[in-house]
Amino acid sequence: MGTRAKRPRSGQRSQWPLLIVANTLPIRRQRERGVTRWVTAPGGLATALTPIVRDAGGAWIGWTGAVGRIPTTFRHEGIAMVPVPLSRQEITEYYEGFGNGTLWPLFHGAIREPAYHRPWWRAYVAVNERFAETVARHATPGGTVWVQDYHLMLVPSLLRRRRPDLRIGFFLHVPFPAEDLFARLPWRRQVIEGVLGADVVGLQTPTAARNLARLARRFGGADVHGNMVFKEGRQTVVDAYPISVDVQGIEHVAGLPRVHRRVEELRRTVGRGRRVLLGVDRLDYTKGIDLRLKAYAELLTRQREFAAQTVLVQVAVPSRDRVLEYRRLQERVDAMVGRLNGEHGDVGVEPVSYVRRNLDTEELVALYRLADVMLVTPLADGMNLVAKEYVAARTDGRGTLILSEFAGAAAELKSALLVNPHDVNGMADAIEQALAMPAPEERRRMRQLRGAVHTNTVQDWAASFLKSLRSASSA
Ligand code: UDP
Repeated sequence: MGTRAKRPRSGQRSQWPLLIVANTLPIRRQRERGVTRWVTAPGGLATALTPIVRDAGGAWIGWTGAVGRIPTTFRHEGIAMVPVPLSRQEITEYYEGFGNGTLWPLFHGAIREPAYHRPWWRAYVAVNERFAETVARHATPGGTVWVQDYHLMLVPSLLRRRRPDLRIGFFLHVPFPAEDLFARLPWRRQVIEGVLGADVVGLQTPTAARNLARLARRFGGADVHGNMVFKEGRQTVVDAYPISVDVQGIEHVAGLPRVHRRVEELRRTVGRGRRVLLGVDRLDYTKGIDLRLKAYAELLTRQREFAAQTVLVQVAVPSRDRVLEYRRLQERVDAMVGRLNGEHGDVGVEPVSYVRRNLDTEELVALYRLADVMLVTPLADGMNLVAKEYVAARTDGRGTLILSEFAGAAAELKSALLVNPHDVNGMADAIEQALAMPAPEERRRMRQLRGAVHTNTVQDWAASFLKSLRSASSA
């Protein structure tokens, strides 16, 4: 074993053979009856990686979500958690600034104008250095490190400089933009060189992988052959590893008697015989909630009787509310729902049922089971897990998925009704088509969709990435 850093509490190790490095730890503080404790934050990434990290005796490195003072390394459900501190200013400049204000809009097709500020970039570099430092201290010699997402794109090369003995993987959860769009970034060369420090760079889709490989040639001075990128005597695999969901876990929840009872209760509440359309999104401008509401309004204008015969349940989870753009979006969506219900509703009839808060897994799965038609219509999305969760929940083989061509999931879920979310009339047509779909076609499409999610679960995703990483770095 290598040298030991300061020994954390309760005799834990301070170096681990497998490290997951992400902006945030997969846990959050929860206060219950006056006691604050750590609870596991729900999410596919934590579900997929927790057992792998536990079996490997590994650790997770990330920010706790709190400002300033942080705990030392601690264990949570059998996994070591190594917190990385962020100051208030770093949260503003690195996380809300460069992360949410520069890279997020740039990588999602510049749906909003990305902002380029040099202090944000400096904070991004400083925080990436701190993460790389922390990883370098905590990885065993020859260990494996898997860095997650756009917050930490410089970590692979910063880490390789410090620890050339490590196997380093990087996975980008968001889309990777086309060449000319990415070329706008003032720090494009540094970002490309940053990820190329990894042995394997994973993206959600083949298109994203192609975009990155082209940019590696143009701005990284690399040679590219197929999915291999060569630079300075090193090689990096750049390929698609589409992320997925915990299919078995969702199927289990879908089979729980209390979830069945909840579906019945919801059915009574919305009104028996009323067809249910469902949207489930973070309140983010990439999700296309406003255009979806417009398409539904278009449909209600075409067919007045639909206001009583259908209901659109829209779950919108508030997100990044310290960023002005997000607060504006929330106001806009709130107003649109009000207008739509005012114009198309009646006493006791609301065409849109709007839930603006985070729901737990059981409630979500109950809604998935209730929905005749699931609307997943982002303008850009790395994958979109909601689409896959809907399919996983439909063990009854029913339900129709309307899916944006611009979601990464569209590359796999080809039997969905694919739509262009900018085309409001086209979306209204797709909703009509879904509502009128004959049962045999609905079942056939759902069977194909379920086949697709069964062949690539989130556990398969993690295993296949780590397998590539093992073989790439031993090549
Ligand atoms: N989600 C949730 N509660 C909600 C709405 C969504 O737990 O009320 C979860 C959902 O189950 C999914 C995730 O949030 O796993 C959203 O992932 P997705 O890839 O669709 O979008 P993202 O928010 O990561 O952009």
